[in-house]
Amino acid sequence: MTAERPAAKPMKSLDEALAQLLAYAARLDGVEQLATFDADGRVLAQDLVSHLHVPPQDNSSMDGYALRCADLTDPSRALPVSQRIPAGSAGTALAPQSVARIFTGAPIPAGADAVVMQEDCDVQADGSVRMTAQPKPGQWIRRAGEDVTRGAVVLAQGARLTPAELGLAASIGMDVLSVARRPRVALFSTGDELVMPGAVAPEHMPPGAIYNSNRFFLKALLKRLGCEVSDLGIVPDQREATIAALRGAAEQHDLILTSGGVSVGEEDHIKPAVQSLGHLDLWQIAIKPGKPFAYGRVADAHFIGLPGNPVSSFVTFLLLVRPFLLKLQGVTQLAPTPMTVRADFSWPRADKRREFLRVRRNPNGGLDLFANQSSGVLTSAVWGDGLVDTPPGATITPGDVVRFIPFSELLA
Ligand code: AMP
Ligand code: MG
Repeated sequence: MTAERPAAKPMKSLDEALAQLLAYAARLDGVEQLATFDADGRVLAQDLVSHLHVPPQDNSSMDGYALRCADLTDPSRALPVSQRIPAGSAGTALAPQSVARIFTGAPIPAGADAVVMQEDCDVQADGSVRMTAQPKPGQWIRRAGEDVTRGAVVLAQGARLTPAELGLAASIGMDVLSVARRPRVALFSTGDELVMPGAVAPEHMPPGAIYNSNRFFLKALLKRLGCEVSDLGIVPDQREATIAALRGAAEQHDLILTSGGVSVGEEDHIKPAVQSLGHLDLWQIAIKPGKPFAYGRVADAHFIGLPGNPVSSFVTFLLLVRPFLLKLQGVTQLAPTPMTVRADFSWPRADKRREFLRVRRNPNGGLDLFANQSSGVLTSAVWGDGLVDTPPGATITPGDVVRFIPFSELLA
């Protein structure tokens, strides 16, 4: 048995593995024209250049009166109202020694240099207006172009579109956006022990069987990253059928993603099947959870094999597959933004691998640790709201400041 075991390869650091993986992630061909309304979560495939200022003109940020400050040499003097400018109309140049009734969003008339809010005005019986406070030039005026200037790139190619980006695109008049096409991903599970929920009732589960949980979170994760997912079920347990399934999947997908069956020395059909159709590298990545990981090619499609243990599968997806899929879509910002937070727990056992501990923020501004950090305990990922990135060989004592990556960063 020992003779069959491949020689142990040196472990790769996560950074090394990620760099290598991203080098394979060439941007997908093809863009889609999509209504701005439908583009949430997609990736911009063009720079968006504004052809106008936003706001287009100086305008009032208050309901009140527009005036020329220099006209108010005697603040006790009332000025007549020479025009009325509601939002949506343009008004005319301000007549000397007068004020313009103005409303929020309405353009400032030429010649006016301040707005006095109506709360600071006394309207006299004859309709003229007296200011109760001396205005300062520029007050309550929103300047043309203070949000966006004409000619500016408001969003760059590779930006991920979230609700705020959609609003900004609309503010410069874009009703249709050019976005990267969705990566097409074929998802397979491996493992004879796996049973689909619904196929067998919990009380009738045969000995040794477990429910396929990876398939559910992987599909959901892929969808959140904008992928079109074909769930192709469990890989058939014979070589020829596996080859046929992979070959078929490669024709219509950009990525074939599997979970399970990538541990060193494991007997499974995926490995020889992928090798016969392209190539496969089995990586040992120095992270915990999640050591085994495979990258390969099946014809023109990428192949990624995740470990089977649910937490390993979940974490390696977030750390490696997520940036890979974003890069396929042309995203430029691939790394999550970590925070430094105080650990309210101890982690006395240093590991030679970089560890990603499942933790949760507590109301005191610190982090608590989930008690069971086993790679099979998916409850840790539900209880936790993020990961502590612990360098190799490090221990943690309460009060230490650690690197925290919230799941909200990774699941967005
Ligand atoms: P493997 O990577 O195939 O050696 O699997 C490692 C562990 O993960 C084993 O205990 C498997 O039963 C479990 N496992 C593999 N795939 C899944 C899955 N899709 N859902 C839940 N557990 C799994
Ligand atoms: Mg297995």
